[in-house]
Amino acid sequence: MMKKFFKKHFIFARVLVLYFVGAVLISLSTFFFYYFRTPWVLLIIIVAVCTISYFGPLWCRIFLKSKPYKGKYEERLYSFTKNQEIDLQGIYSIDSTSSQAFTCGFARSKSVFYHSNILKNHPYDEIEAVMAHELGHQAHDDITLYTSITAIVLVLSSMINVALFSYIKTSSLVLLFFCFLTTAISLPIVLAISRWREGMADQYAYDALRDKTAFARFLERLLKYYEKENGVKVEKTISWVARLFLTHPFIYDRIRAFKT
Ligand SMILES: [Zn+2]
Repeated sequence: MMKKFFKKHFIFARVLVLYFVGAVLISLSTFFFYYFRTPWVLLIIIVAVCTISYFGPLWCRIFLKSKPYKGKYEERLYSFTKNQEIDLQGIYSIDSTSSQAFTCGFARSKSVFYHSNILKNHPYDEIEAVMAHELGHQAHDDITLYTSITAIVLVLSSMINVALFSYIKTSSLVLLFFCFLTTAISLPIVLAISRWREGMADQYAYDALRDKTAFARFLERLLKYYEKENGVKVEKTISWVARLFLTHPFIYDRIRAFKT
């Protein structure tokens, strides 16, 4: 029953997961800073965030069991990335029946990850369109930006939470409440930045693709697989409130933009 509710309200479910991850990270860094109370903790947080982000592709290999993509489109995809003047460390496939893709890593660790369903069941022009969007993120240095934002949010919220808490000095549950509060304040800002950068990556793909409709077809197929897999129907309209919780621009707006 719970599962069905979250599948139906998938935007809400995704935000809840993001909120949970954010709250755990902010709580960990705040309590770490509170107990050791030295600026070195803040420096350790910054170094840890940058290191974890740089080795993102390695975590995907370990935890998502991604494998280097060696299929029939390998050469074409690498030559497309060369044409876009972006050097990827690797293109990887993750065993999955959904059609998601993402990029992670920066500098020499830039990599693109496809859920295997895309590579198996989408035509090449759609696979290339997805690559164009992911390369857009790398061309705009989005991973460096997200890494910096994460480090800034963690350091600032730890400092503010500890300063406020030291002022009122009550139970450490209150400090935890401050962590939940700072997460709730930062999340809408982070989501707005994410929508902006996703829109920029779409624009990059639009400029890079000869046939722009390929990305619209990819998104339509992604929706079809998503609806089939989860037994839900994604509405063609969305309220302005629900839009504030999206990580990407609204999917039907994106489809429309690539059809013109
Ligand atoms: Zn994206």
